[in-house]
Amino acid sequence: MIQTQEFLTKVLDSVPDQLVVIDALGDIQFANKSWHVFGDENASTLSGDWDGVNYLSECDKASDMGDEIGTRAGQGIRSVIEAQNHEFYLEYPCHSPDVKRWFMMRVNSFDYDDRLYFVISHQDITERKLTEEKVEDLARLDGLTGIANRRYFEEFLHQEWRRCARLKKPICLAIIDIDNFKMLNDTYGHQSGDDCLISFGELLTQYARRPGDLCARYGGEEFILLWADTSLKTAKRLVNRLMRDISGLDIPNPNSPTATHVTASIGLTEMTPRPGTSHTDIVSIADDALYRAKEGGRNQIYCQTNRDIEGQAS
Ligand code: GH3
Ligand code: MG
Ligand code: MG
Repeated sequence: MIQTQEFLTKVLDSVPDQLVVIDALGDIQFANKSWHVFGDENASTLSGDWDGVNYLSECDKASDMGDEIGTRAGQGIRSVIEAQNHEFYLEYPCHSPDVKRWFMMRVNSFDYDDRLYFVISHQDITERKLTEEKVEDLARLDGLTGIANRRYFEEFLHQEWRRCARLKKPICLAIIDIDNFKMLNDTYGHQSGDDCLISFGELLTQYARRPGDLCARYGGEEFILLWADTSLKTAKRLVNRLMRDISGLDIPNPNSPTATHVTASIGLTEMTPRPGTSHTDIVSIADDALYRAKEGGRNQIYCQTNRDIEGQAS
């Protein structure tokens, strides 16, 4: 087997992972070609000359500037140097201005000439991370309409509920249920029903534009609009406009007892999260309001808040 230094250096230079070797003080003792190339291409302030650079100091500098990855990397490397851990690894994002990138940093040790050295390798794991992102996106979207599914809605509501509790701001929720949808399926077939659901998904997307807004398919022919940090007055204006837009879709449903085109009933509510209330309450109140809209003859909005319910109880 070939054991010359030149040969082994070539081996290390052919490895696409960026490798550096440091001593127990953190001083860089070796860097392979990929390491140098990455430094040059990414306009590192240290590019070109790594001799005498202390890796741990670089992590500390990044950490002092508020870079959490720098803090975790520094702690991890020290944990291997101090023999608290046998090895350490860290996955981290390192996005450039035009591409998303992630790396995995690994730290392993070896001894040479009675001294310990530490190999720090950075492997590009972008492909795997992009696949994971895609899978996560698919898991939170409804397959037919492409908008959020119920699972994601519940996650989102929980998160916005906590945010609004901190801000002491109201959340509004509308449940939208297509009227006599079964009749549409029976009249024109399941495919037409699906097309109608897709049109609803597209329409509702226009009503969820801010980061605290969400439209979701709650199930079957039921949809959700959630507006965090939004007053009931604004939400009422939005659902009134939505009713007109639904009518404007002008999807025929000639056998519906409600109207000759597709209509919907909407249950609307507003709640400000307070101690003793939970994010599930807003869904039950909106659901109850929807039931009343149906009872009232469909093709209408029924608005109910927990104040109304408390009022009825007293
Ligand atoms: P209501 O006015 O009381 O809401 O009556 P409805 O007919 O809309 O409600 P019902 O619950 O009786 O029927 C809902 C129908 O929606 C039954 C179900 O087959 C249909 N449905 C549920 N999911 C889908 C879907 O993904 N595609 C299609 N085409 N139909 C669906
Ligand atoms: Mg329904
Ligand atoms: Mg329905």
